Amino acid sequence: MAEVPNANSPYPPSYYAASRNIIRDTQKLEGEVTADICVVGAGYSGMSTAIHLAEQGLKVVVVEAAEVGWGASGRNGGQVVNGLNASLATIGRRYGEKTANFVGGLVQEGAGIIYDWVARYGIDCDLKRGNIYAAYTEQHMRDLEAKKALWRRHGMDDHELLDRAAVRDHIGSDVYAGGMIDHSGGHMHPLNLVLGEARAFEGLGGMIYEHSPVTRVSQSPDSAVVETASGRVTAKTVVVCGNAYLGNVVPELTSRVMPVSTQMMATAPLGKERAEALLPTGMCVEDVRYILDYFRISGDYRLIFGGGVVYGGTDPADVVAKLRPNMEKVFPQLKGERIDFAWSGNFALSFSRVPQMGRLGNRIYFAHGYSGHGVTGSHLFGRILSEAIQGNTKRFDTFAALPWIPFPGGRLFRAQYSTIGSWWYELKDRLGL
Ligand SMILES: Cc1cc2nc3c(=O)[nH]c(=O)nc-3n(C[C@H](O)[C@H](O)[C@H](O)COP(=O)(O)OP(=O)(O)OC[C@H]3O[C@@H](n4cnc5c(N)ncnc54)[C@H](O)[C@@H]3O)c2cc1C
Repeated sequence: MAEVPNANSPYPPSYYAASRNIIRDTQKLEGEVTADICVVGAGYSGMSTAIHLAEQGLKVVVVEAAEVGWGASGRNGGQVVNGLNASLATIGRRYGEKTANFVGGLVQEGAGIIYDWVARYGIDCDLKRGNIYAAYTEQHMRDLEAKKALWRRHGMDDHELLDRAAVRDHIGSDVYAGGMIDHSGGHMHPLNLVLGEARAFEGLGGMIYEHSPVTRVSQSPDSAVVETASGRVTAKTVVVCGNAYLGNVVPELTSRVMPVSTQMMATAPLGKERAEALLPTGMCVEDVRYILDYFRISGDYRLIFGGGVVYGGTDPADVVAKLRPNMEKVFPQLKGERIDFAWSGNFALSFSRVPQMGRLGNRIYFAHGYSGHGVTGSHLFGRILSEAIQGNTKRFDTFAALPWIPFPGGRLFRAQYSTIGSWWYELKDRLGL
């Protein structure tokens, strides 16, 4: 069964939890609280929605089952990757050119929000610029060339193609046939980002209740209500941002996404020199396969390495055993290197890999399903939700109208169904297709 948070869920044993630079003084929801807006879930989606609304002077409270950033937002690869998981080409094929143009116009906006807030609110999260898409095959290179051309058509010209020799200047490995830099991407310490956002939100007058799992969300013509075991919030509007960790709390959302776990580990500190030999220009890397590796150097010179997926969101027994061979394939020079931290986290996969936002009735909004590429998308969706809640529904309506396909066959079958899909993707990766 996929993990769901409870009031006592500790942070996972991640490098991020061990190196977080804000330890919060948490407060539980108790008794009756009223607000303009109540947000469920203190990850990036929730914090982005909450900050955008609080910046407009609205009274916003956030209710989090565990602690700020306990979910994917506090344990991810830290890669600020522009765009959605589904490519613009796929979106064009599936939803039409008009939708692709609309999405193309906003794929850099999420990263812009992060860069803006890090500067504006003084968030200390080791932010660095530049991300690299690494290619294993000539076919991957052709795909990257097509992606570059397509993004330029949508007005984005921050990409630089790298041939086999040039990619070696950025990644100290011989496995790649080439790659492409996105100079407008980047990477950061993900938990420190969301903790900094929480502090910024509180500075704007917002209130966060932690260790307070929401058990029920309901609405009437006049209000929406969020209930926990020890309290409740009555608001004009509720925004549900529980993503892969929501479980069955809002049944209408359950079949829309599937929790998928992915794993990460952090080596012992390597020292500046060895770390820079791995990634000389300090950019983060993800390869372009379906089941991909992603890695970067942390602020204290560890290699943070992630990869693999488990459909259904269960954790593998031994994360290091799973990831070490992949890391050593890319960097044989790290053979036998000590691993200090290993952990898992769940993202929410949507069937089309396009994230979803919408409204249930008049007063309950939601956003989820970034399908493993959600650092920027969640920040963007928070902004679009906040616009809609304040009456400007233009961008919200476009996303909310996109058709979605439920994962068929209930919770158990949806994992099996998608595992079959993952075999197919793994086979394609192995054959280099
Ligand atoms: C290991 C890993 C690596 C990843 N790497 C990257 C990457 O490098 N780049 C990238 O772009 N994306 C990455 N992602 C995806 C990205 O992290 C997510 O898309 C993004 O963080 C989603 O944010 P969110 O706020 O929607 O969800 P979450 O961060 O999961 O937040 C949901 C919150 O809701 C809370 N919640 C759930 N149920 C309840 C309830 N009943 N009551 C109250 N609170 C509740 C949870 O406790 C949680 O804190 C990765 C994901 C994982 C798991």
